[in-house]
Amino acid sequence: MYCPMPLSLRRESFPREGADMKITDIRWAALAGNFDWLVVRVDTDEGLYGWGECFWGVGVNEMLRTMKPLLIGENPMDVGRLYEKLIRSMSGVGSLAGTSVTAITAVEFALWDITGKALGAPVYQLLGGRHRERVRLYADCHAGESLESDTEARRITVRDKTKACARATHTPEAYAARAKEVLAAGWTALKFDLDVPLAWQHDAFNRCLSNGQLAQMEAVVAAVREAVGPETDICFDCHWAFNVNDAIKLADRLTKYEIMWLEDPIPAENIDALVKVTQDTKTPICTGENYFRKFGFKELIEKQAVDIVSPDISRLGGLLEAFKIAALADMYYIPVAPHNITGPIGTFAAAHLSAAIPNFLVMEFHAMDVDWFEDLIAQDEPVIREGYFHFTGKPGLGIEIDDDVARAHLLPGEKWFDE
Ligand SMILES: [Mg+2]
Repeated sequence: MYCPMPLSLRRESFPREGADMKITDIRWAALAGNFDWLVVRVDTDEGLYGWGECFWGVGVNEMLRTMKPLLIGENPMDVGRLYEKLIRSMSGVGSLAGTSVTAITAVEFALWDITGKALGAPVYQLLGGRHRERVRLYADCHAGESLESDTEARRITVRDKTKACARATHTPEAYAARAKEVLAAGWTALKFDLDVPLAWQHDAFNRCLSNGQLAQMEAVVAAVREAVGPETDICFDCHWAFNVNDAIKLADRLTKYEIMWLEDPIPAENIDALVKVTQDTKTPICTGENYFRKFGFKELIEKQAVDIVSPDISRLGGLLEAFKIAALADMYYIPVAPHNITGPIGTFAAAHLSAAIPNFLVMEFHAMDVDWFEDLIAQDEPVIREGYFHFTGKPGLGIEIDDDVARAHLLPGEKWFDE
C-alpha cells in the first residue's frame, strides 16, 4: 500500500545548516615536523574553514593543484559524494593508490571539519558516536634513540642499513633505557624498530636472517620486556624486511615475550605469504600502513592475513573509507591499530576514527620528540596526556592551529595561509 511521507518528514522541511555553503579555496603548506607535515586548509563562502593533513607530502601538492577546480563551488558537507567525485576524476590523472589518494585524504578531513563546525558536532559524532571517551596511544620509540631530524628519519625510512648499523646506540641496553624513559612518562604501550640493528647481516637484500641476527633481535625484545615488566604492551616493527620462513622463526622466538604485535615482518604485497606467516605463529602479526582505500584492504582482511590491521588513516582515502575498512575487519573480529606519523591535524582525525569504531586497539603517536607538537594546537591543555589522546569537545575535528607556531616551523620556501 502506498504510504505518503508526512510533510514534516520530507527533506525540504528540514533546512540544514550549510545547505548552500560553497568551497571557495584550497591551500596547503608544509611544516618541518619529524616528517614533513602537509597541512591543507579548505575555505568556504560562509567563513567556515576546515583543516586537513596527509602523509606524506611528496607529490601531493601537484595532486591538490589538479583537484582544486573540481572542488571550488561544491558544498563541502557532501563529504561522501565529493570523495567519489575526486576518486573517479583522479583515476585518469594519478592512480587509485598513492599520492592522489593521499591528497584526497587531506581534503576529506577538511570537509569533515567544516561539516562538524557547521552542525556544531564533533566528527566522531557524525561517524556514529564514541565507543570510548579518550583514545589509547602507543609511543613509537624507534630503535632505542630518537630520530632528531627529518633528514635522519628519511635516512632510516629509505633503509640505509649500513649507516644505521654502524651506530653503537642500537643495543639491547639502549632499547631498555628508552623503554624505561617512555614508561616513566606515563605510556602503557610502546613500539620499537626491530630491523635496524642488523650488525651481523651478510646481505642487505636477500631477506634472510642468520641465527646470530635472530639471537640479536630476541635479545632486544627480551631487554625491552625485562625493562617494562609483564603488563606493558610492546610491539616491534620489521619494515617489510624478511622472508617467510625467517619471519616465522623470528615470530616463534618472540612468543614467550607476549608482545602485542610483530609488524610488517615480510613485504606487504603478497597476501598469501602473509597468511602463511600469520597462521604459522602465535605471535600476533600486524600489517596495513601500505594499503589504500577499502579495496586495498579487501584481500588482506578476507583471507585473514593479519591478526591486527594497521591502516594509515592520513593517507588511505579519508575517514569514511577508514570506517568502512574497520567495519570489514570487524566482520572477521580483527582489531584496528591505526598507523599515524602525522602532526596534530592528522592525529586529531585518526583519533575521531579510533573513537568511532568498535574494534579499535591502540593508535600510533610518533611525534614524542617534537617539542612544539602541543604548541601548534591553539589550546591550553595538552591533548596528549598519560599515553592517551583527549578530545577538545569542539565541533569538527576540534583543532585550531596557532599561526605563529606554524610560521616558525614552515619548511624552507613555504608560506602560511594568512600570508
Ligand atoms: Mg610500521
